[in-house]
Amino acid sequence: MILEGFGVGPMDANCYIIGCNEKRVAAVVDPGAEGKRILAKLEEIKLKCQYIILTHGHIDHIGALNEVRQATGAEVLVHKNDAPMLTNPAHNLSLFMGSAIKCKQADRLLEDGDRVNVGNVNLEILHTPGHTPGGICIKVGNNLITGDTLFAGSVGRSDFPGGNHNVMIKSIKTKLLQFPDETKVYPGHGPASTIGAEKKYNPFL
Ligand SMILES: [Zn+2]
Ligand SMILES: [Zn+2]
Repeated sequence: MILEGFGVGPMDANCYIIGCNEKRVAAVVDPGAEGKRILAKLEEIKLKCQYIILTHGHIDHIGALNEVRQATGAEVLVHKNDAPMLTNPAHNLSLFMGSAIKCKQADRLLEDGDRVNVGNVNLEILHTPGHTPGGICIKVGNNLITGDTLFAGSVGRSDFPGGNHNVMIKSIKTKLLQFPDETKVYPGHGPASTIGAEKKYNPFL
C-alpha cells in the first residue's frame, strides 16, 4: 500500500493519496486545492486515479475536485449527507470565501460500513458526523484518515451549518477510539498522530 499526504491551498488542508503497489491505481482523498500539484504527484508515483473520496464537503477539501476529476475521469465518492454540498456554494462555504465553487453530483454516495477497493487495498468508510452531517473517516490498514473530525490534540469545529459538537465527540469516541492505540491518525489539517496519543492527551476527549 502507498499512503502519501501533503498540505494544499491557503488553509493547508491535507490531501492524501492511497495507492495499490501492484495494480498501480489510487484514490485521492480531499483534493482541496492545487490540482496541478496533485496530478503531478500521481504522475510521479505512477498511479492512475480511480476514485476521489471526500471526507466532507467543505471548500478547503473540494476546491480542486473539478480539476482532478476532469483530468483523471475518476469516480467521486462522498457520504450521502454531504452530497448537497458539492452542488451548492452556500453549503460548501465557498460562497463566503471569495469564489463560489460548484461541482457536479457525486458518482457514488457512501454510507457507514461501505468498502471501497483501490486495487488490492481495502478501504472502510466510517460515518463520523458532527463537523458536517456527512463527515467520514477512512480506515485503511492500520491507518485512519480523519478529515476535520479528529486532529492531533484537537477536534473539528462544529459552528458551521450542520455541525454539532456533541455528535462529533460521540462519533470520535464510538467510531475512532475503538481502534488499537498504535493506529495512525492522518487528519484533514496539521500533523499525524495515533489513537493512543489522542486518547491520552487530547483535551477534548
Ligand atoms: Zn471542514
Ligand atoms: Zn478543513
